[in-house]
Amino acid sequence: MTDSVDVQPWMITPQVTAVFDALEARGRRGCARFVGGCVRNTLLGAPIGDIDIATTLTPDLVTAALKAAGIRAVPTGIDHGTVTAVVDGVPFEVTTLRRDVSTDGRRAVVAFTQDWAQDAQRRDFTLNAVYADRDGTLSDPTGRGVADGKAGAIVFVGEARTRIEEDSLRILRFFRFLAWYGQGVPDAGALQACEDLAGSIGNLPAERTSRELLKLLSAPDPRLAVELMARAGVLGVLLPADRDRREFRALVGNDSGMPGLPDPVLRLAALLPQDREAVLQIMDRMRLSNAERHRLAEAAEVTPVIGPDMGMKAARECLYLQGATAFSDRVRLAWAASGEGGDPSPWRNLLDLAEGWVRPVLPVNGKDAEAAGVPRGPLVGKVLAEVEAWWMARDFGDGREAVLARLVAVIGDTGDTGDTP
Ligand code: ATP
Ligand code: MG
Repeated sequence: MTDSVDVQPWMITPQVTAVFDALEARGRRGCARFVGGCVRNTLLGAPIGDIDIATTLTPDLVTAALKAAGIRAVPTGIDHGTVTAVVDGVPFEVTTLRRDVSTDGRRAVVAFTQDWAQDAQRRDFTLNAVYADRDGTLSDPTGRGVADGKAGAIVFVGEARTRIEEDSLRILRFFRFLAWYGQGVPDAGALQACEDLAGSIGNLPAERTSRELLKLLSAPDPRLAVELMARAGVLGVLLPADRDRREFRALVGNDSGMPGLPDPVLRLAALLPQDREAVLQIMDRMRLSNAERHRLAEAAEVTPVIGPDMGMKAARECLYLQGATAFSDRVRLAWAASGEGGDPSPWRNLLDLAEGWVRPVLPVNGKDAEAAGVPRGPLVGKVLAEVEAWWMARDFGDGREAVLARLVAVIGDTGDTGDTP
């Protein structure tokens, strides 16, 4: 069994060292250990996200210890024992060892403890309940966290049903870790418990469930996890109008070989109805950010139709009207909708076009219209819109002189210079 990992660069940065030194100046050596994702991912050879630290020191001692060392201590979750240490702008969650006293599915009352094994018992999955000292020595109180992590087995600490009844977010965390680290056949008992208790997710704050879903969708290949989630009735609680997942699968499949990280928001778009209004309604429930909301609504737009035989001129027009993000989102969704196994090159050409897109600027403006005799007012916009439509229909190729001539012609056609709008 592995009982240590090599000391990793992230374990000995000046910031991490400052936090451990501060805590150990109060407690004894070993009073603080790394835990959670940073240990798990190190065991798996995967890059780490945030650094979580567990400690035997109570939150007030943690706060005092950090302050004594000149480190900012933010009481981010003090009732639950979490103090965030901020060093040079880098945050570390420092959480006192704890055991649950009572739980109600949403929040827990906790008691602090000095016992690492007790702390491990309230963590969600065995692979998340492995601790590492600052020198890389591991401790694995459940006795199977290291092995489960390496095998890609997502196993609840204790009985799945009980652990979900304590906190239903664990259903989504189960699928999230399955998507990221799962290998082999998923635990049937855990899946059954998720299915039986799926409805309880609806009682959680939507912000939390949506964040978990997006984290799940950021996994390199979340297809199996999403399928299992749908079959367990979990996806349907989050996305009431969930749709056929063929497009989602094709989208994820097309991702391989594409530059950049997986795009969880676009993947979500492939699971949403293709109907702007319906999407907006779901967005309201999910409480996504305005930017995400806007992007998903644009992605659900169906006109103008985007397809593999779309000419470059039509594509430029669409890009001009919708912007590069909405356009490439729609290309990738349409590509996914066209099914797996087709010729990727027309789609890639459209994506390349969006990638290099610099939005052309209409070479005339309101001042030109006024100089040509249009009085300031709504008619200026009307005339410019007509000129713009002409310029766009000619593929943005005309320069200022030609466009100015067109402007004058449009004003002539309008027949008056604006006494009536
Ligand atoms: P990531 O790499 O995404 O940060 P993580 O495993 O570190 O993954 P966090 O949400 O940062 O996830 O939580 C840190 C640790 O706290 C987890 O590894 C787990 O031990 C524990 N934990 C977090 N949320 C729960 C929960 N709902 N129930 C039980 N334990 C939890
Ligand atoms: Mg973490």
